[in-house]
Amino acid sequence: MKKVLIYATLAMISAMMMLNGCKSAGASQQTKKTNKVLLIAQSGKSNYQIVLPDKKDSGLADKYLQKGAKLLQSCVKEASGAELPIVRENKISSAKNCIYLGNTKYLRSKGINTAKFTNWTWINKMQDQNLIIAGHDFKPVLNDRRGRYAFILGTVKGITAFLQRDLGVRFILPGKNGIHVPKQKTITVNENLDIKKTPNIKFIYGRRTEFFYEIANNFLPSAGIKLYGGHSYYHAVPVKKYAKTNPEYFILKGGVRNPKGNHLCISNPEVQNLIYREMLKWLDKGYSTVELAQTDGYKPCECRNCKKYGNVKDPGEKLWILHRKLAKKLKKDRPGKKVIIISYGPTLHPPKTFKDFPDNVIIELCSYSPENFQRWSKCEVPGGFMTYIYNWGYYQSVGLTPKRTPKFSCEQTKLFFRNKVRGVYLCGFGELFGLEGPAYYAYGRAFDTPENASPQLLTDEYCRAGFGKAYIPMKKFYDVLFKRLELYSGVSSYSDAKVALPKSPRVILAYNYSPDVLKTMETNLQRAEKLAESFKVKKRLLLVRKEFDYVKNLASIIHIYNAYRTSPNWQFFDKLADLINQRKRMVKAVCRKGRVARLKDWPHVTFLGGVDTQTLKVNGRQGAILSAPFNWNTSLLKKKKVLPGLNQKKLTIYKAAGAIPINANFDSGIWKTIPYQSMGEIQMGQLQEQTRFKMAYDTNNLYIAFNCTLPVGKMKFFPVGRDGSAWGQECMEIFIDPFASREKNYHFIFNPVKNSYYDAARGFIEDQLDPQYDKNDASWNGKWYYYNWLDQKNNKWKALVKIPFKSLKLTSPGKGTTWLMNIGREHYIPGTKKLELSLWSPNLEAMNFHEKEAFGEVVFAGKK
Ligand SMILES: [Zn+2]
Repeated sequence: MKKVLIYATLAMISAMMMLNGCKSAGASQQTKKTNKVLLIAQSGKSNYQIVLPDKKDSGLADKYLQKGAKLLQSCVKEASGAELPIVRENKISSAKNCIYLGNTKYLRSKGINTAKFTNWTWINKMQDQNLIIAGHDFKPVLNDRRGRYAFILGTVKGITAFLQRDLGVRFILPGKNGIHVPKQKTITVNENLDIKKTPNIKFIYGRRTEFFYEIANNFLPSAGIKLYGGHSYYHAVPVKKYAKTNPEYFILKGGVRNPKGNHLCISNPEVQNLIYREMLKWLDKGYSTVELAQTDGYKPCECRNCKKYGNVKDPGEKLWILHRKLAKKLKKDRPGKKVIIISYGPTLHPPKTFKDFPDNVIIELCSYSPENFQRWSKCEVPGGFMTYIYNWGYYQSVGLTPKRTPKFSCEQTKLFFRNKVRGVYLCGFGELFGLEGPAYYAYGRAFDTPENASPQLLTDEYCRAGFGKAYIPMKKFYDVLFKRLELYSGVSSYSDAKVALPKSPRVILAYNYSPDVLKTMETNLQRAEKLAESFKVKKRLLLVRKEFDYVKNLASIIHIYNAYRTSPNWQFFDKLADLINQRKRMVKAVCRKGRVARLKDWPHVTFLGGVDTQTLKVNGRQGAILSAPFNWNTSLLKKKKVLPGLNQKKLTIYKAAGAIPINANFDSGIWKTIPYQSMGEIQMGQLQEQTRFKMAYDTNNLYIAFNCTLPVGKMKFFPVGRDGSAWGQECMEIFIDPFASREKNYHFIFNPVKNSYYDAARGFIEDQLDPQYDKNDASWNGKWYYYNWLDQKNNKWKALVKIPFKSLKLTSPGKGTTWLMNIGREHYIPGTKKLELSLWSPNLEAMNFHEKEAFGEVVFAGKK
């Protein structure tokens, strides 16, 4: 998780008040009659000038006010033809009326003190034929180096609000090609205009797009809040700094201290102190608020003190107890400062041992289902909530294809508004502005009127403003897309309901983009392309076209693949190969220097998420990763005349003539005449690291000899003990079904390091209602052995595994006995977070090893 946010500190606000002088508010000059004031006359002439405060009055925010002034100037010009001059307040022409921006003397002379405004509050006000647009413009943390994201710019928000309301400007997409300015011969403003508004949300932040798109549509950055991307523990007690000197700071797992994953021994007072010091570090730099959050994929410490901590068993409850304790200490030590405590992973549900938090606590919810808000309603959180939302992001199962509908956007904003959510962190956003633009737009705009936002009206507004004469086919295009997306968008939105979705992205994508949906979208997009007239509309359609072509090709591959799976033949294979090649060309064309490049006309849009080439090839990361047939080497398969998926692997093994020695000489002695089996990429794709093995047996044991490539020097291995998470690093996995049952099997895992292995039995529980039914039972412990030989110079890893038949409660297998087996390897590619999976008998359906249908046959053949 990644993040950043904000709040104005009381200290900051009072400092600004003193700077600006604190005049008492003058009596309102409002008159009762409502006349229109003419800003721009029919002839394209205007008696107005845009007035910026003198530099000393706008301070650090000056350059952003200048940008705001230029936006105002260019929109007025595009609408009416009139070009208003921009001047500083000390250079104004007395012959002209003024549009005053920001903290001008004029503003202050009217008794308005914007330093008193909270957050992004702005005003639009007519005063004596002058228009005032102002808000609080300041930088809460002076040494915050995040450019404009370190600022609160109420005046700029006021400018975009004026443009939206009185000029009908719409900020459809990020950048100048995304700003729609309707033509207007005259521009008038209500003489009694007097609006003061505080946005309904303090920030929606996390993924950056473009200045005006963000501010106009309520994607307000936050300044003054220190967020870490979700997890502060990594920074409080970094492995790099402490793993060697203080191993006791990290968790005890399987009897050893294990720094892997940066999980902490939270009962250790020194660890608690480091966590607290990390909080103070940022608050003392001027931040008003700091995040406090445990590690991702949290693993509790098994030491005696941690087990006792808080007098509770649940590891999540222990965290709540610790985090509230730190918050209470902070309230005493740094009054006025706030802490955001994460509710995530083990702390997903509210605490059970207490019912209230001190008022300096904001709870960050990573589950924001109505059910979860209901649970939290029983706990007192006077500081309110923020949410860390997973609406978008290409780690979702549908990867780099659309995820949300405008209807979803409106429903979520309403839910948040009603439940006192004050900030939103976006984990993923903006990967698909062409196809998902209306959902993003609805999300931001819905916060203007959360109770009444209408997805239909907002989509309609988007299409009219965005596509002009091509409005009708584009409305149809999006309607068809969003109607079909409704199932995925709705079900996948909340963790409580996710279970209903099929896991395989191929199944969801085939539904979302069925051939009929693709056809209707294509027809309407073509109609729109013919109708498009203006430069901006053509550029917007180009963005839509590029993304749609990507999605269409992707879905077509899946449709043909499904046909191939139903009937594997060369006709389907060749069609599939054509589409895969088309996709490869497409991937190549959009990438530069290993990443998806931005489009020339859309410099602020992270086209297809700007992902690296590898991620694009598999359509995303985590749950999105598409495997077969996207990873097939179609030309090699064709050359070798292999139709993938037709046959499982089969291997005959022989009884050794003599004793099998425990050494790595796999090419001599009894191993000499036994050929290697090679392990392929799990779905017949390509591999970086090669794995081969040989198998033999004697009267008492089965032996598997591994010979693989591995960049040993670039890797570190941490022993996890017995039945620790051996799968969390480089490992070999062996599955044995000695009954050829495709139901019961044994599972062995080992790492290239001593005392680091796992074993389990599966399928032995027959009661389907038992929670352990068809799950790995790690309490099963066999008596088996593994030996490693690492050769750093030659990048080699050799290993020998010995499994006594007795340990499986079996006698020596007779001649002709058949077992089902599979052997897999997880390779964690160094320097990346990528995982490479090799498997002996490939699994074309899913990216996992334990699929019993994919197991190959091993036949015991007696002596050769
Ligand atoms: Zn501990």
